[in-house]
Amino acid sequence: MTQSARKCPICGKPRVAEHAPFCSSRCRDRDLLKWLDDGYTLPGPAAPPDIPPEE
Ligand SMILES: [Zn+2]
Repeated sequence: MTQSARKCPICGKPRVAEHAPFCSSRCRDRDLLKWLDDGYTLPGPAAPPDIPPEE
């Protein structure tokens, strides 16, 4: 088998040139949201490992 037609990475349907590399603006938005969601999971500044107890 040859990959003559590329598929939408979101849903696997044949992609549309207008929305390449996706099949629709909907899938493009889903991909964008996925990226944004990943962005929120980026490791932020780590909390100090040793916090002096408040006494
Ligand atoms: Zn799609």
